[in-house]
Amino acid sequence: MITLSGIRKTYGKTVALDGLELEVREGEFFCLLGPSGAGKTTTLKTVAGLEQPDSGTVLLGGEDMRGVEPYDRGVAMCFESYALYPHRSVYDNLASPLRSPRYRLPAAEARQRIGAVAELLGISALLDRPVGRLSNGQRQRVALGRVLVRPAKAFLLDEPLSHLDAKLRQQMRAELKAIGEVRHTTTLYVTHDSVEALALGDRIGVVREGRIVQTGTREEIWYQPYDTEVARAFGRPRINLLPGVVTESGVRSDGGVELPVRSRATPGTDVLVGLRPRDLALRGPGHELTGTVYVTEVLGRSVEVTVRLGTGERRVSLVAPRADAARLRPDDPVRLVVRPENLLLFEADRPERPGRRIETER
Ligand code: ADP
Ligand code: MG
Repeated sequence: MITLSGIRKTYGKTVALDGLELEVREGEFFCLLGPSGAGKTTTLKTVAGLEQPDSGTVLLGGEDMRGVEPYDRGVAMCFESYALYPHRSVYDNLASPLRSPRYRLPAAEARQRIGAVAELLGISALLDRPVGRLSNGQRQRVALGRVLVRPAKAFLLDEPLSHLDAKLRQQMRAELKAIGEVRHTTTLYVTHDSVEALALGDRIGVVREGRIVQTGTREEIWYQPYDTEVARAFGRPRINLLPGVVTESGVRSDGGVELPVRSRATPGTDVLVGLRPRDLALRGPGHELTGTVYVTEVLGRSVEVTVRLGTGERRVSLVAPRADAARLRPDDPVRLVVRPENLLLFEADRPERPGRRIETER
C-alpha cells in the first residue's frame, strides 16, 4: 500500500533519509520506531508529499506519487506539532477537514463520524470548548481526531500519544487499534517508545540514521534482533550482553562462566551473549549459572536481582517473582537458570557499528 524505495532526503549537509526502504501492507498497522533525529517525521512528510525526496520513489496503492500534491494523495497525517484553530471549538476543529470540497460529507454523516471519534477519544464532553482552553493531552486527542474523522487511504500518525500522561497514554494505546477507522485503514505510526511499538505494531520498522535497520513482527524483532542496538532498544530491564570468546562447545565469559550457545563462529572470536532479564530464573530447568547477589530492587510484584556471575565482576540482571527473590541479600550465593534456546549471540560491538546477531545452532 505504501512503498518507499531508495528515499534520500538532505537538508543542507544533514542527511535525514539515507536510502530508506519501507513497505507497508494494505490494512496493516505499521510502527516506525527510532530515536529522535532518526528521520521518522521526514519519512511521514515524504509519504504525505509535504517534502520532496532528493531521490527515490514513493508509491501509494501502486501509483507513483511524483508530482502529486499532498491534497490529492488521499492520506491523512497527524503532526507531532499540531496545527489546530485555538479560537474555534473542538467540534469545529474536527469538522473543518470534512468541509473541504474533497469530502463534503452530508452534515448528518459528518456529525455522526465526529460523534463516534470524539467518543472513542474521550473528548465528547469537550466538543463546545475552544481548543485554546484545553490541556496539551486534550489537544493531542483533538489533533488525532482530526485525522481519524477523515475517510483516507492511509493514516500517518506522528507520535500522537506523546503529550498524554502515562495513564492516559496506556489507555489510549490499548484503545487506538480497536477504533474501527484505524482497524480498517492502513496506518503508519511513528514513535520513539519501544513499548508502544510492541503493543501496537502488526509489524515494526526500526529506523536509525535515515535507514531501516530491521523490519519484522514483534516476535521477530524480539527473538532475532538485527544487532545489539536493536536488542537494547526492546525490553526493560535491558537485555544483558555478556562479553565472551567462542570456544569449541559454546562461549566462555569472565569468571569461569560457560554458556552453551553454539554457532558457526570461529573459536577465539570475541562475541556478546544476550540474556534477557525475563529469560533468567532462580529455579527451574535450564543451563545453570552460579554467582553472588549484587543488589535487589523490588518492582511491584517482581524483583530485579543483579547478580555477579561466577568468580568475576560481570553482572547480569534478572526479573524474578517476589516469592523467589524475597530472601536474597547482597553477597548471598545464587544459582541461575537459563534455557539455552533463549541465549542470543552477537558479534562484539565495534566503534563503527553495533555487533550484528550471529545465527545460533540448536
Ligand atoms: P525524527 O522525527 O526521527 O526525530 P526528523 O525526520 O525530524 O527525525 O529529522 C531527521 C534529521 O533531519 C534530523 O537531523 C533533523 O535535524 C533534520 N531535519 C529535519 N527537518 C529539517 C528541516 N526542515 N531543516 C533542517 N534539518 C531538518
Ligand atoms: Mg519527529
